[in-house]
Amino acid sequence: MSERTSNLRSKIAQLRATFVEQLPARLSESRRFFEALQANSNNHEAAASLHRFLHSIKGTGNSFGLRDLGAEAAQGERLAGRLLETPLDATPEFWRELDECLGNIGMCIEALQDVGATTQQEEPPTFELPSQPADSKTLGGKLVYICDDEAAQREQLGIQLHCFGYQTVGFADPNELFEAMHARNPDALIMDIGFPEGASRGTNALAWLKREMNHAVPAIFLSGRDDFAARLGAVQAGGDAYFHKPVRPLDLVAMLDALTVRHEPEPYRVLIVDDEPEVAGYHSLILQDAGMIVEQVNDPRGVLEVLQEFRPDMVLMDMYMPGCTGLELAKVIRQLPDYVGLPIVYLSSETDKKKQFSAMRVGAEGFLTKPIQPEDLVSTVAIRAERMRNLRALMARDGLTGLYNHSTTTQLLESALAMARRQNSLLCFAMIDVDRFKSVNDTYGHPVGDQVLLALGRLLQQRLRSSDIVGRYGGEEFAVILPNVSLEQAAEIIDQLRIDFAKVNFLAGDVQFSCSFSAGVASFNDFKHMETLRGAADKALYAAKNQGRNRVLTGR
Ligand code: GH3
Ligand code: MG
Ligand code: MG
Repeated sequence: MSERTSNLRSKIAQLRATFVEQLPARLSESRRFFEALQANSNNHEAAASLHRFLHSIKGTGNSFGLRDLGAEAAQGERLAGRLLETPLDATPEFWRELDECLGNIGMCIEALQDVGATTQQEEPPTFELPSQPADSKTLGGKLVYICDDEAAQREQLGIQLHCFGYQTVGFADPNELFEAMHARNPDALIMDIGFPEGASRGTNALAWLKREMNHAVPAIFLSGRDDFAARLGAVQAGGDAYFHKPVRPLDLVAMLDALTVRHEPEPYRVLIVDDEPEVAGYHSLILQDAGMIVEQVNDPRGVLEVLQEFRPDMVLMDMYMPGCTGLELAKVIRQLPDYVGLPIVYLSSETDKKKQFSAMRVGAEGFLTKPIQPEDLVSTVAIRAERMRNLRALMARDGLTGLYNHSTTTQLLESALAMARRQNSLLCFAMIDVDRFKSVNDTYGHPVGDQVLLALGRLLQQRLRSSDIVGRYGGEEFAVILPNVSLEQAAEIIDQLRIDFAKVNFLAGDVQFSCSFSAGVASFNDFKHMETLRGAADKALYAAKNQGRNRVLTGR
């Protein structure tokens, strides 16, 4: 058994021990309902409570692999179900059966207490976790080797790539480059293949490259030739991309982004609603182990606040909970426009197909029955969450830059504020606006203006932390949400971006130009509400424009 598997199993065993400890108290509660019902079999509340108690002992017991207990509780649940029927036909025989069933449950519980919850023969569903691939990439700026015999070109390209968060090392000679690659592989390399004739000492330059190249490293070739033979040769030599010189640095950035994209998708976020903390904990451990972020709600009345803050990709919902059934809760959630598309999957030990079906009619996406195999749980959740992700991405993103659009950015700001309020943590908001952008459009045309917006969006996204949120707020306005930094820190971060953005060269035909932006930053600690925070950032931006643009000011 792998260490990870045994770790998970010992955590599950702890949850089960807690569950077993509580069983005597639950049973005496069930007994009290039973006695109340014997005195008055029309006590509907007591009948419903008894039914729910036995139902949850069955479900949780089965989830933890306590099969005898699960089977007895299932029998009790069936009998208690009859008390909910009208007209009620409770014969002395019926009461005797239910009494005996509670007695059997009591014996199961005693046996569990005797053995000691940690040393039971009955194990929770056994499983071996699939191994996870090791993290192949380290964090930090991606490293790019640039090989070009012209020093000025190397340097210029290095500066441009640096603005987008790439670390670069330049080489004048391919032999030096390959030497360096023995020591450390970069994330990508850019090479002018117009000149390795000298370095390859007279042999066919491309054949030589093909031998020397490490084909695991993405390579972008630059060349003065644009004919088919040259392009084919470059492909055969292991080039992943080919650019005819002169090259626009921004095109190279886009290609580098594509070639070095890190496949670390954001973990799925799953909300589990279950009144039983142990069973919620059990499912949550399994999903967390599969790399998901899980939040539990044990009291259904708290679900709306958690939805707002946690922004789950899907909800796993129990059916029977005190005060509110899963069905009712799903209806409440569906009534809110923000959650119309949120996938809800029931996870219940309800095996009655008719009841399952009517629960699904509320617009739930599926019905899973407890106990569930861990791998089934993980795959069901992953499929639903993935679909939600895709749908959301389409609705939430701006078409030109791929950043969050205005309404999504606003929603995300709202959630970030709620979180900061609850955790009493730092949060800053910045508004960024391109300077004299209208004149870029007027001078070079709208498509060139679009390139500027695209570049700024890419720069913001590449350079900010993954916890920061970048949105396109309007035409040439961007918004950034920066959690856990002070106003001073946020202003400094945005100012560094401002300095680097001003260094980016844009090309319109043969004309080279650059742009700047102004920004206003405000802190949640000074402005507690969305409107005042946004207003303060906007006012600071306006002041930055008035003071001559190309600067970052803070709102106080
Ligand atoms: P200031 O420094 O005061 O911000 O001046 P400005 O010219 O940047 O500001 P203004 O608000 O006057 O002009 C913004 C321009 O942005 C006008 C609009 O045509 C242009 N714009 C808005 N959205 C887009 C877009 O998606 N693409 C392009 N190319 N231009 C856009
Ligand atoms: Mg502007
Ligand atoms: Mg504007």
